[in-house]
Amino acid sequence: MTTTSLRNTAPSQRREAFFGYVTAVVVSAVIAVALTSWLTPALWIVNLTDVPVAVWVMAVMAILIEWRPLLPPGSRYSQAAMLSLSFIMAILLWWGYIPALIIQTVVAALIFKRLGAAAWRVAFNTAQFALALTAAHLVLVAAGMSSAHLLDSGWGLVALLAAGTAWFAVSHLLVCFAWTLRFSVPWWRMVVRAFGYEAVVHFAQLALAPILVVVASVNAWLVLLSAVPIYAVYRMARLSSEHERMALSDSLTGLPNRKGFQTEVSEAIDRAEESGGRLAVLICDLDRFAAVNNSLGHGVGDQLLKELANRFTACGQSSQMVAKIGGDEFGFLIAEYGSESEVERYADRVRSILSGPVWLDDVSVDVSGAIGVACYPQDGTDFETLFRHADVAMYEAKSRGSGVARYAPEYDHHSPERLALLGDLRRALEAPDLPGVELYYQPQIELASGDVVGVEALLRYRHPSQGSVDPAELIALAEHSAVMRILTYRVIDEAVSQLARWRADGLTLRVSVNVSVRDLHATDFCDYLTQRLIKHQVPPAALRLEITESALMADPRRVMATLKRLEELGVGLSLDDFGTGFSSMQHLRRLPVSEVKIDKSFVLGMADDPDAVAIVRSIIELGRSLGLQVVAEGVENERIWRQLRKFGCDAAQGWFYAKPMPASQLAGWLSRYRPHVADPPINNVSPISARSVSR
Ligand code: C2E
Ligand code: MG
Ligand code: MG
Repeated sequence: MTTTSLRNTAPSQRREAFFGYVTAVVVSAVIAVALTSWLTPALWIVNLTDVPVAVWVMAVMAILIEWRPLLPPGSRYSQAAMLSLSFIMAILLWWGYIPALIIQTVVAALIFKRLGAAAWRVAFNTAQFALALTAAHLVLVAAGMSSAHLLDSGWGLVALLAAGTAWFAVSHLLVCFAWTLRFSVPWWRMVVRAFGYEAVVHFAQLALAPILVVVASVNAWLVLLSAVPIYAVYRMARLSSEHERMALSDSLTGLPNRKGFQTEVSEAIDRAEESGGRLAVLICDLDRFAAVNNSLGHGVGDQLLKELANRFTACGQSSQMVAKIGGDEFGFLIAEYGSESEVERYADRVRSILSGPVWLDDVSVDVSGAIGVACYPQDGTDFETLFRHADVAMYEAKSRGSGVARYAPEYDHHSPERLALLGDLRRALEAPDLPGVELYYQPQIELASGDVVGVEALLRYRHPSQGSVDPAELIALAEHSAVMRILTYRVIDEAVSQLARWRADGLTLRVSVNVSVRDLHATDFCDYLTQRLIKHQVPPAALRLEITESALMADPRRVMATLKRLEELGVGLSLDDFGTGFSSMQHLRRLPVSEVKIDKSFVLGMADDPDAVAIVRSIIELGRSLGLQVVAEGVENERIWRQLRKFGCDAAQGWFYAKPMPASQLAGWLSRYRPHVADPPINNVSPISARSVSR
């Protein structure tokens, strides 16, 4: 969405009104010019040779100075600065309305044509200036002014000021109404907004006009000298506009940079606020871009970014904008959308651009990336929030490997509420005597014998004001912080001391504890575990650690040392949520795990999905052929229990037997539990007791 292309389009929602307005301005200009010329016939030029040399000089200078017109930077709203205005006003004062109008029309057509404006825009802007000049002329006529006694008295200065103001007011208001129709922003806001820059530029030029007239009356050729200060102003304005343009754009791709993106998004938010519209901000981060730079060189990396920038720009429409907001990050703005499916389609288009190979110097580079989406007003009402939330969604898309993700508060581990929750959890974990943090235990049953072989320890946290917090959400929150370590140590501490108490009561259960892969990175993890086991005199084999598959596979080499030590110690390892990550058989074979736990999504799916049945069956066969114990979690009913038994699954846990319960209730449950080996009675005790203990 370049400035030029946007300006050349009509707003999609107010097309008729917009073109109606443009037509009205053009028609009004034609009528106003015709009437004014007719009312002041003396102003018609009869003979070209009568035109004073000074007028010719000023006319040529006006055209030359606009040969490379000046467009103020970052200016979706600002007009082209007409540096020839001094000459046009001087011609109006010196020679009259018609010559000034002719020169002004030529100059305006030249400026807008050179800026790549569409034909209707050239017509509109020419008409706008014609109306402005007519207004200025009528003010002078009304004040009874002619060039002869223009500067005779102080009254002349007032009339000149009034004429200049009329020119500026008409020209500026006409454009403000066009902006209002285009961007649905109140016209008065546009007037105020552009007043500073536009007013300074135009009044500076208008003020030069009478000086040029005085100079011309002395010696026409002296007017040429005015080229020097005007050129100096032009150069400085051009340099500062280049400077500002560079500050807002990326030097490699020419796209807006982060600051430019912020400007565009903030303006789009302002418009959406006024019109009740919606907009979307997308952030796309390339995967492994550093690897491209390192292996193929920075030159190829740059070419890749340029090629992607071109492709992204080509796929957008006028209401969409692409920016390069970081080294390998692109930002996209959908300035107006009707339905959310439009945003999804756009994100998919960006993704499909990324998924195709890019050929650079006969090298095919495969790129991929993650895209995060945040929408106004649902996900934020200012640039900072939308940008941060799109970033959060992008990281979520990256970690899920899903390509695209729309922002959701649960992905945001740094929102003030979640940080406060994390702080509360930390305090609760550090004060074992206070209520709030507790471990629940869910029995694991051997399918062949029906015996309870172990329990899984599951964390429960009751927040003082928010009540029970979902454990998976809590872990996801803590996992990105130092709280995870405190949490794991507290869980291990409690689980091992509970094991010791049960063993003292004659209960020989095995306890499975969930640990995060971050814990396995900590060098003192094994020492701490060993120390707790020794302190409570619990044999290592009574403890099993559950590690999630995806986390483990992400960096198996790093955790291998810890896993080896745990194996030597005699603590069993279980691969949790098996089937949901990126399983590598090679890793599975090399890791010292003794158990795999089939993810509950597959087990729950067995009820109505034949594919889930096939997956569960093949995991069981795979586990058995690798000599691993297979545990199914999420067994909710008898039918699934039967199927798992038939497939040869070793053990199961789930609501069919019992929901997770506090340690204090486990002994009671165990005393009521009756194993059902062959044909479990329909009203067996387990599901009833499961219902009686809530999470
Ligand atoms: P997980 O380790 O896969 O634990 C199994 C989850 O399945 C538990 O959810 C359990 O309550 C639930 N579940 C068990 N049987 C059934 C069933 O029949 N039907 C259904 N629908 N669900 C069943 P929970 O307690 O909400 O824990 C969620 C996850 O949070 C755990 O998944 C584990 O990854 C994590 N987590 C819980 N406690 C801890 C902990 O102390 N440390 C760490 N690192 N993670 C923990
Ligand atoms: Mg688990
Ligand atoms: Mg699990």
